[in-house]
Amino acid sequence: MSRLHITCPHCPSVVFSNDRPAVVEKRTLRSILGAEEKGPAEVERYYSLKDPFAFDNISVSKPLASNIKLLACGECEKGPLGYFDPAGKEYLLLCSLEK
Ligand SMILES: [Zn+2]
Repeated sequence: MSRLHITCPHCPSVVFSNDRPAVVEKRTLRSILGAEEKGPAEVERYYSLKDPFAFDNISVSKPLASNIKLLACGECEKGPLGYFDPAGKEYLLLCSLEK
């Protein structure tokens, strides 16, 4: 199993360095943050993690009205880098963060 290494797009902090997680398609951050959706729901690719300790450095926001929590860099607090879905108890980290 190869490793996945993701650093924060805003600072040198390592967000994730661990075994490569499964990739899933889930609704976009844009739709979660309340952008108007027209037509079929848009999806985006995420790494799916069940264990918050798999991350090196992550910060989890207070829940939004939808109960979804946003993930941000644990060091500079900038994000969102993904979100926590309480329905599936999944931490979803954007695949597009991989360089
Ligand atoms: Zn950062």
